[in-house]
Parts: sequence; C-alpha cells; structure tokens
Amino acid sequence: MDQHASDAIQLRIDAMCDRVEKLKEQDLYFYNQPVRELRGGARVLVDGREMGMYASYSYLGLVGHPRINQAAKDAIDRFGTGTHGVRTLAGSLILHRELEEKIAEFKGAEDAITYSSGYVTNLTVISTMVGRGDYVISDKLNHASIVDGCLMSGARFLRFRHNDTESLEQRLQQADAEQGSAKLVVADSVFSMDGDIIDFPNLVAICRKYNAWLMVDEAHSVGVLGKTGRGIEEHFGMPGTIDLKMGTLSKTIPSVGGYVAGKRELIQYLRHASRAYIFSAAIPPAQAAAAKVAFDVILDEPWRVEKLNANTEQFINGLKGRGFDTMNTQTAIVPVLCGSDERAFELTGIAQHKNIFVLPVVSPAVPPGLARLRATVTAAHEPDEIEHAMNIIEEAGKKIGLIA
Ligand code: PMP
Repeated sequence: MDQHASDAIQLRIDAMCDRVEKLKEQDLYFYNQPVRELRGGARVLVDGREMGMYASYSYLGLVGHPRINQAAKDAIDRFGTGTHGVRTLAGSLILHRELEEKIAEFKGAEDAITYSSGYVTNLTVISTMVGRGDYVISDKLNHASIVDGCLMSGARFLRFRHNDTESLEQRLQQADAEQGSAKLVVADSVFSMDGDIIDFPNLVAICRKYNAWLMVDEAHSVGVLGKTGRGIEEHFGMPGTIDLKMGTLSKTIPSVGGYVAGKRELIQYLRHASRAYIFSAAIPPAQAAAAKVAFDVILDEPWRVEKLNANTEQFINGLKGRGFDTMNTQTAIVPVLCGSDERAFELTGIAQHKNIFVLPVVSPAVPPGLARLRATVTAAHEPDEIEHAMNIIEEAGKKIGLIA
C-alpha cells in the first residue's frame, strides 16, 4: 500500500500530473520539448522538424558565436570543468574576477559580484539587503525570483500596481511612517510576460524622494535597451542611478549565472554577507569565460542591437497590423493576447504544427483571462522569416476566431 496515498502533498502531485496528462492527450502540451539542434539561432530541430524559433531569450543571437565558444573551450583546457568549492574558500578563479570586472565596466559600476543563476541572485541579494523590520516594495508583475527573494527576506512585503509610480509613492509613504526602517524598491526593467518597460525616470525620482534603495532586474534589458545594449540607464540617458543593477548571464549573454553591479562597498558587503555566495559553488570556468567574452562581442558587433531593434519593430507592427492585441510591449518580448487558457493553447498548437516555435503563457503565470501566446524575436531572425512567422500566426488567429 502506498503510505502517502491520500495526503495533501500526494493530492497536489496528482492534480498536477492529471493536468499535464490531459493536455498531452489533447496534443496541447508544448513545454519541455527537447531541441536536438540549434540551427543558427533562428531555427531549431525538434522531433525531426525544423522550426522557426520564437521563444528564445538569446536576444542578440549570441548562442554558438565562434568567439564565445572558443573562450569556453580554452577555459576548459586551462581550468577543467568545475571550481571544487565555494568562492570564499577554494573556488575563486581569476576568470571570476575578470568576468566581474567586465560586468562592472559594461554596466558603468565600480564593481560586480556573480552568482550561479539569476534566480539565486534575486533570492540571496534581496534577502541580504533587507530583513525583519524593513520594507521591500515590489512591482506587482515582477519576476517570480524577485517575489521569492522578498518573501524569503522576512521584510514587510508591499506591492505596487504594475508600472504605476503613484501607487509606489503610496507604498513608500506607508513605509516612511515608520522611522528608521530600511526601504528597498525592486522592479524589472522589462517585464518578462508583457514586454513593457518600467517608467524609469519616475521610479528613480520617487526612490530618491523617499530615500529608498533601488534594485532593477535587467534580465530582459541587457543587449535590448540602450544604443549599445547596456540596458535601462543607457536607454533613458540616466547613468549611475540604480543602486543594485541585477542581471542574468543566461539570456542575451549565452551562459549561466547572475550578477549585481554597484558601488564597491556594496559588492564587498554582498561578498561577505550573501548566503548564496558563501554557501554555494561558483559559475564553472567555461561559463564564466563565455560570459566575459559575450560582453565584448556586444560592443564589438553593434549591428546586433540595431538589427534586434529593427526586427522588434517589424514584429510588433506586423502583428498589430494583422489585428492582434500585443498589449503594451515595446521590446522583443511580444505577447499576443488570447484571453482564455484554451485559446492560448489552441493558437500555439496551430502555430507549432506549422513549425513556428512559440509558447503559451497561462494562469497562474498571468492573471486568468489574460492568457497569451508569447513570442520573442532576436537579432538572428531575417525579415522574411519574421514575415512568414506572422503569416502563420495570422492564419492560426483567424482559425480560432481571435482576429477577423
Ligand atoms: N529575472 C527575470 C526578469 C527573469 O525573466 C529570469 C528568468 N526567466 C530571471 C530573473 C532568472 O534568471 P536565471 O534564468 O538566470 O535564473
């Protein structure tokens, strides 16, 4: 007899497995598909079929870049594949310092610290900066890793309406009533489900007015915003305004890891107080070397940022012109609003059967009724490929009655 047969944990497991099974039976399960080959960044081989890739975060098409691959191979030859421990003890390599110096330079900061992923970076940094008795104030649509970091911190967790600086101000007034408690405001630069950009000038002004620390997650803005792809401060012409510039090495930068760039003392503090740095292993040598060179490639090949901008414009305008609601996106993350979860699954199913790799985003990742197909473009796509993908999505949209 199964001793867990009907307890609450088992019921949760069963409910999830049932949901997955039902979607599979209806041929509407699109997650965890094994990609067999990457074909130049814009196309992938899945189940023996070549598909146009519109779900990639490799915004500048740097996955597989020869210079980056070579740096990773050289690092393996020099250092092997692991770091035999945490950074504080024996796991720190010269490569880690070089990467951190490169990040600091790229982000216009005094120093930087790296962690094993972006998710871990948000957890550990937020929970190191604030704790019991403090306030952490977060945009309602911030990424799950920010939410988890806020919860883990034990600080009083206030949320403001999405991209609404009046609502932020109300929260700060609430926090300000209590003298002496620290205040940390956290926001995404570009929102990962909607593609819109935070109202950065007002965000900065309000944080300053209330003397709050500002942390911005640049997972979707590095390589995407700013003339040279340096991110949100460059985009708005406001250098040096973020206290904690957080980012990931797993999207535009084709590696794995996360970082925070900021003032020298802040980074020194995190190096000696953040638990994921002290108690968890470092980024492997190949990934550190790849990430470092990727920042150089972004600056050496400025055409990539320009091409991403052109592709983004073509994609958003093309979908809007075909009658789709792309919400408030201004970036390479382009939602196609479907409404119900079922419609998002249907639209995705038709597109995928026509070899366009896009994914549905449904509740609880987005509020019920706002399910969507979420597509991304990158600098690796050519204009005719984008046109073809949009034609397929249009055909699918007409078939399910989403557009006329
Ligand atoms: N922040 C944001 C806004 C993200 O979209 C993601 C990844 N989806 C992360 C953090 C986590 O980054 P990583 O994948 O490096 O753990």
